[in-house]
Amino acid sequence: MKLSSHGAAQEVTGSCHLLEVGNEKILIDCGMFQGGSVLEARNHEEFGFSPSSVNKLFLTHAHLDHCGRIPLLVKRGFSGQIVTTKPTADIIRYILLDSAHLMREDYIRQSRRSRRRGEVTPKPLYDEQDVFEALDLITAVVNEDDPLEFGDIKATFRRAGHILGSSFIEFEIKEDGTTHRVTFGGDLGNTGRDVMPDYNQPNPCDIVYCESTYGDRQHRNIEESEKEFSEAVVASLKRGGNVIIPSFALERSQDVLYELKEMYQKRLLPKGTGVFLNSPLAINITRIYQRYPEGLGPEVKAALERKDDPFSFPGVEYTQTEQESRDLNSLAGGNVFIAGSGMCNGGRVLHHLKHNLWREEASVVLVGYQAKDSLGRLLVERRKTVRIYGDDIFVKANVHTIGGFSAHADQKTLLDWLDHTGGAEVRLVHGESNGLRGLKQALESKGRTATIVEDGVTYS
Ligand SMILES: [Zn+2]
Ligand SMILES: [Zn+2]
Repeated sequence: MKLSSHGAAQEVTGSCHLLEVGNEKILIDCGMFQGGSVLEARNHEEFGFSPSSVNKLFLTHAHLDHCGRIPLLVKRGFSGQIVTTKPTADIIRYILLDSAHLMREDYIRQSRRSRRRGEVTPKPLYDEQDVFEALDLITAVVNEDDPLEFGDIKATFRRAGHILGSSFIEFEIKEDGTTHRVTFGGDLGNTGRDVMPDYNQPNPCDIVYCESTYGDRQHRNIEESEKEFSEAVVASLKRGGNVIIPSFALERSQDVLYELKEMYQKRLLPKGTGVFLNSPLAINITRIYQRYPEGLGPEVKAALERKDDPFSFPGVEYTQTEQESRDLNSLAGGNVFIAGSGMCNGGRVLHHLKHNLWREEASVVLVGYQAKDSLGRLLVERRKTVRIYGDDIFVKANVHTIGGFSAHADQKTLLDWLDHTGGAEVRLVHGESNGLRGLKQALESKGRTATIVEDGVTYS
């Protein structure tokens, strides 16, 4: 048995792990590198293995840093089977098509600029046709906890509680009379959330791959964060302002809608408040969430089962078309706009910001991570003016940062999950140096063996 990682090793994004047993070459995830031009340039590089030699791709979940390079893998020769859960298979259609669309738009914009400088812009990684060809390879859809057996290998997808359909995968491999148990943790969810259920307990194993995104940190308490969120939204609405919630389409938008619904039910929202989900991608994904009550948290599941949509209530509108979206610009106050992108780097949220940031009664409520240099981060840093579509906009609106809505487990939650893996050697991936080192130290102080995985290195 050989194991190697070709992404998300000593970094967060680009998850891609290769498991080789006899003639079987199995890839676990094939994600995109994200965050700045240097990292993103790596998406164009070779994979570090031959795509045509891989038989199977097991996909843990539909986030782009886990699935974003699949169409490229297919373009470069992979023709094996893609195995994942049903909700993940549904969600990646939209995620990959959106990714192809954004890359094409970026390419058009950048090549116009670089032509003027006499430079050449690299072509997009893939187009929509490549996405459809990749989707055709999803020929095995598995249920949680139902083992899939092929040859001497048994693989079971288990609930990771991170986003809808997300899983960790337990492999049982028979080789030369011994059984190896290897678990790939994927991304693990924070516990105690509403929309997502808690993760399942893993079984004892020999080797466990574990993410370390927040390996050195504890999250703010969820209830406190919900209270802060509610207070920030209500204060702005009562002042007569609009509330802008930049949000990722997958998971965070559904979390925000559910929070707002709870506020509506507690009669905290002023009468007549309009709530606009202004993102076609988030709308499509919300519809997928509505189809899988069994994959959601107990309260959300119960609501769906009694036909009480957890993501809608009187006043909520799903804004589909460009025209409907533009019409929202004329609404001066009393509304909540949920729109992407989550870090304000593009998308429909920019229009909302342009029309509201200069109003002192308005608020921006940031519910996700804001990377360095993103417009969202500039708002967190309280810049007096920001540039949007070539205009300098005064920032008079209130900016609130709510910390506790993370979809990732914090250090304590990761350690709790790892406790169930028995004495397994922990291989740390999907983290920056502080997260990796923090989790390694915490594990070693409990007597566990932990290795920080290096990119391209083969482990047994
Ligand atoms: Zn994820
Ligand atoms: Zn991830």
